[in-house]
Amino acid sequence: MNEATLSEISGTEAPEAVSSARGRRTRLSGWGRYPACESEVYRPEKLAELRSVVVSNTRTLIARGAGRAYGDAALNAGARVVDVERMNRMLAFDPKTRALRCEAGVTIGEIIDVFVPRGFFPPVTPGTRYVTLGGAIAADVHGKNHHRESSLAAHVSWFDLMLASGEIKRCSREENTELFWATVGGMGLTGVIIELEIRLRHIASAYLEGEIIRAANVDDAFARFEAADSRYDYSVAWIDCLARRGALGRSILSVGNFAAPEALPARLRQSPLRPEPPSRLAVPLDLPGFVLAPASVRAFNAAYYLRHPSAARVITPYQPFFYPLDSIENWNRIYGKRGFVQYQCVWPLGESREGLVEVLEAIAKSGRGSFLAVLKKFGAQEGMLSFPMPGYTLALDFPVTQGLFEFLDRLDAMVLKRGGRVYLAKDARLAPEALRAMYPNLDRWRQIKAVADPDNRFSSSLSRRLKMEPA
Ligand SMILES: Cc1cc2nc3c(=O)[nH]c(=O)nc-3n(C[C@H](O)[C@H](O)[C@H](O)COP(=O)(O)OP(=O)(O)OC[C@H]3O[C@@H](n4cnc5c(N)ncnc54)[C@H](O)[C@@H]3O)c2cc1C
Repeated sequence: MNEATLSEISGTEAPEAVSSARGRRTRLSGWGRYPACESEVYRPEKLAELRSVVVSNTRTLIARGAGRAYGDAALNAGARVVDVERMNRMLAFDPKTRALRCEAGVTIGEIIDVFVPRGFFPPVTPGTRYVTLGGAIAADVHGKNHHRESSLAAHVSWFDLMLASGEIKRCSREENTELFWATVGGMGLTGVIIELEIRLRHIASAYLEGEIIRAANVDDAFARFEAADSRYDYSVAWIDCLARRGALGRSILSVGNFAAPEALPARLRQSPLRPEPPSRLAVPLDLPGFVLAPASVRAFNAAYYLRHPSAARVITPYQPFFYPLDSIENWNRIYGKRGFVQYQCVWPLGESREGLVEVLEAIAKSGRGSFLAVLKKFGAQEGMLSFPMPGYTLALDFPVTQGLFEFLDRLDAMVLKRGGRVYLAKDARLAPEALRAMYPNLDRWRQIKAVADPDNRFSSSLSRRLKMEPA
């Protein structure tokens, strides 16, 4: 395929005539459904509409993509939110360089649908396909291959950023370099990313060849991660966070590489880039609290662990490997109406084992079980406010219940004393002092924001809660 206009390939339509964008009062939340608030929401489809929203000198504004950040990053209580999902045109692709140019509202899922049949895959993907590239750059997302490929920013050649003045700046490692690094992981607070170039990776099949590995406890889990590191591009572990004593940290590792077509069973070899679409289930309503009671989580965890014996070689289509939760529509409703918080932290490599033991012991003792408890290894990382650092990261879901935030404050202190930090894309409750201590480049970031956005026009519920804005 030559460099081509991708609207032909993807079926996306050319924009209609310019019309002025209008806001609509809407109640919004992140994926965790906590907190929720009202904002004036704009949904521009074209650049001129976006610019008119950005430059209008009324209340503050924050960009919103697919709303998959868990907490308040894409919320702006009582002010304005600009939803850029309709600015999602793919513009050009060069198969030789694997460079895709597109608007920032394009999702990882849209890239997959167009490019997997052509033998390409996003270089980094979070655990859901329902995120926009703009949102993914703003959070500088990581995937199961961070230990090999770092975060998304490592694969972004440049992006165009609309500043509060309406001016558009091309940002890359060579041009407006500081603004590039302040926007990557900058949670939408420097401006709106409108267009970008990203390099995809080549794949020869849409299946992964890997292993399922059972680890009996924390030490076993770390040993197996380290052993898998050099052999596998992708690795992740599900941890039974309620196991205690000798079984503390018992887990199921899932590791893999994209498979060569020759490695597939004969029936899949016919069309190795076109796996069956997965079936989708839905959670029809908010589930009652007892479903998440510690006893239910403990029983689920024990059964899950026992049902996954080690398997030396497994072939898995990419969908369940990368996006197991996407097959359950609205799975966030299982946590009930009060919503939930995802707590994701990282420790430096040398502190990871002790840090993990300490946090798992605190969770097991508290009885606050989490169905989802995921451990990943991080490698090298650049960026000012990017979350990853070389070490291990743990992510856990907790329903919002009495005493939860006090408990998480205690986890923050444990993480902080070991030089770790908490992920802003998942956060809804961190304190400003903790943020300052966890992100040492915050002051430098503030200086760059002050130049790009001198009147703090870009502001969110998260940035105000965390006092991120320059004084
Ligand atoms: C099931 C699930 C699994 C996940 N797994 C992972 C994972 O493995 N790794 C990981 O890193 N993250 C993960 N996440 C988090 C998710 O990848 C990030 O929160 C991502 O930012 C969501 O993108 P979005 O398009 O939904 O952005 P939103 O949630 O809408 O916004 C997130 C942030 O991006 C900013 N933003 C959005 N669009 C733009 C734009 N065009 N210009 C400037 N700023 C913008 C917003 O202001 C906000 O600060 C997961 C989330 C879910 C729900």
